Amino acid sequence: MTRNYKRQTTVKLAVYGKGGIGKSTTSCNISVALAKRGKKVLQIGCDPKHDSTFTLTGFLIPTIIDTLQEKDYHYEDVWPEDVIYKGYGGVDCVEAGGPPAGAGCGGYVVGETVKLLKELNAFDEYDVILFDVLGDVVCGGFAAPLNYADYCLIVTDNGFDALFAANRIAASVREKARTHPLRLAGLIGNRTSKRDLIEKYIEAVPMPVLEVLPLIEDIRVSRVKGKTLFEMAESDPSLNYVCDYYLNIADQILARPEGVVPNDAPDRELFSLLSDF
Ligand code: ADP
Ligand code: MG
Repeated sequence: MTRNYKRQTTVKLAVYGKGGIGKSTTSCNISVALAKRGKKVLQIGCDPKHDSTFTLTGFLIPTIIDTLQEKDYHYEDVWPEDVIYKGYGGVDCVEAGGPPAGAGCGGYVVGETVKLLKELNAFDEYDVILFDVLGDVVCGGFAAPLNYADYCLIVTDNGFDALFAANRIAASVREKARTHPLRLAGLIGNRTSKRDLIEKYIEAVPMPVLEVLPLIEDIRVSRVKGKTLFEMAESDPSLNYVCDYYLNIADQILARPEGVVPNDAPDRELFSLLSDF
């Protein structure tokens, strides 16, 4: 008798946060951490900057939009190897690319990317898909990856601006959670050793803090080198302690946490909560 084993479903993550806060760096290292745990991982860069996967591949890979334009939007002429590139640790990498500046929509680009990957039968063959998304959610377009995600992760420091952005993203998660089972897995504190404002924020809007990474010079350098911390640690084992931060986040995700649907904290309330006046 043959038995049909149900394939475990893909866990889809969307990483958000203020511009420059460390989303791509954190995404690449989490992707490798998940791969180190034996998972098949796809990272999709959803930022017109299209540098999400630089640290994994060491170069700026062609974007889906560039490739589609080149092929006159004939999806049937696109091969997986045209758009999916192998990165460090076996992580597969895709860059969605951006809409034309001042025209078009980021949401359309993400939609086209998912459509193409589905046509290539590439969307369902991963254990984890991680969307690395541009900055704060400022419009429905850039909230689009939330439509495909099971979990949102927010990268923030201990400052007002990043927490303000985090609150906007949390509001988008609340909105999207009305129509599909999206949860906020939690905050990742980055480039900070202090967490007093983060603590204040999560008192008002309860959510888990998955990890807090300090400012680490080697993480800054890793971006310039185009290498994850895991790759750097191969020749410098003193960096293994940095990898442990990312492995800890990966393990929490793989445990399929309950996460939260965040509370509502209007902008005005946040101003008085996070400032001294
Ligand atoms: P984003 O994707 O949010 O725009 P990046 O991942 O490109 O941000 O990070 C911006 C810069 O901050 C990069 O040069 C990166 O190396 C650096 N960086 C990120 N996290 C840390 C950290 N914990 N310590 C030091 N530098 C960091
Ligand atoms: Mg980025």
